[in-house]
Amino acid sequence: LQRNPGETEFHQAVREVLESLGPVLVKHPEYTERKIIERICEPERQIIFRVPWQDDKGQVQINRGFRVEFNSALGPYKGGLRFHPSVYLGIIKFLGFEQIFKNSLTGMPIGGGKGGSDFDPKGKSDDEIMRFCQSFMTELYRHLGEHTDVPAGDIGVGGREIGYLFGQYKRITNRYEAGVLTGKGLHYGGSLVRTEATGYGATYFVNEMLKARGESFEGKTCIVSGSGNVAIYTIEKIHELGGKCVACSDSNGVIYHQQGLDLELIKQLKEVERRRIKDYTEFHPDAKYVGNGNIWEIACQVAMPSATQNEINGNDAKKLINNGCMAVGEGANMPTTPEGIKVFLEAGIAYGPGKAANAGGVATSALEMQQNACRDSWSFEFTEKKLEEIMIGIHKACFETAEEYGYPGNYVVGANIAGFIKVANAMVAQGLI
Ligand code: NDP
Repeated sequence: LQRNPGETEFHQAVREVLESLGPVLVKHPEYTERKIIERICEPERQIIFRVPWQDDKGQVQINRGFRVEFNSALGPYKGGLRFHPSVYLGIIKFLGFEQIFKNSLTGMPIGGGKGGSDFDPKGKSDDEIMRFCQSFMTELYRHLGEHTDVPAGDIGVGGREIGYLFGQYKRITNRYEAGVLTGKGLHYGGSLVRTEATGYGATYFVNEMLKARGESFEGKTCIVSGSGNVAIYTIEKIHELGGKCVACSDSNGVIYHQQGLDLELIKQLKEVERRRIKDYTEFHPDAKYVGNGNIWEIACQVAMPSATQNEINGNDAKKLINNGCMAVGEGANMPTTPEGIKVFLEAGIAYGPGKAANAGGVATSALEMQQNACRDSWSFEFTEKKLEEIMIGIHKACFETAEEYGYPGNYVVGANIAGFIKVANAMVAQGLI
């Protein structure tokens, strides 16, 4: 705490992992001897930089850019970029820290990192977004490389932003190094399924948790918070697997549609026209929009938080349980507060923490890197099958590790221990670096 004052979300993420690791440290004294815990909590490198850009009125604007290269024991730093006004070092460090264990769980050779800026893309013109991305990359490029550090998208960074960032990287370096960013457009090195991967993967993970309890999505009422990339493809896969998603949201309010959300309309509003979710009721007057509403008050059997950190607190968790929720799968990173997690674990519901449940996005990014490395592009079916296998594998690792360490059904402990051990072993093997 003293080393990192004010970094609240980072403290929260570290505490959540360390609380699970007691039994591992007892079993592996070499981790304590080699100070793995102290080392793993300290990023290998933190880069903070000025991002000057000009808005459409010709005014100069200044934002702050970040890239935290947290851990490269398993491979090049890998993790998204977030553009949101709430971004500061504590957010980037919590995301980077989580990313280390998530990436380890995927079984792919990728280390952990995260970056972003306090830039707010909302209300900006396309040209302003492009100028900002170009300025951001003008500093960041020197730290990147397909064998060094490979960013992707996150909140506020989708296909459009990755395109502008990639263009500027190529222009400055004079290298067509496709593997330096993931989430690229399909016509210039992107991978099929990357857009869908986090949402699809989270839904596959919940499906596995349900199966382990003799249940399925068939006929279940579900709610998904957010209406961005992760939320949209979570809703899509839930519908494919026979569930009915009745509500989603954005930072202004909640849409409830009892007959089931019209996903094609949501895609049109959010992905094509970049509008707000409240506009949904223009097309479906029978749906209800509640400004500043709390989505977790809506009764459901499966809840999939897919917006942002700390969106479910202890009271929200209690409401979900009282309304009959039996499974929670986190598409977002750290969406549940420590009090909320406690409620879920004590109630004994199937609770899939983000570092396991939403790992499908980064896993498919690693598949994109594989395709770039061999100048190949795989079919949708082939890539989706791989994603599904990876998610089944992550579920199995978390489930079995939780049992092995005496916490059956506790995916928090399972994910933290399974993710940690691989990284710790690699760090021991690579010496004091
Ligand atoms: P998007 O920017 O596409 O969408 C984010 C959604 O969450 C929007 O609906 C946004 O509403 C809402 N939201 C964001 N911040 C807040 C806030 N402070 N309060 C309320 N609502 C908010 O991002 P993604 O879908 O990519 O990311 C969503 C979550 O999933 C994040 O936690 C991210 O870290 C995580 N994640 C994403 C991955 C990916 O592949 N994209 C991979 C793994 C995890 P509004 O438009 O009003 O801001």
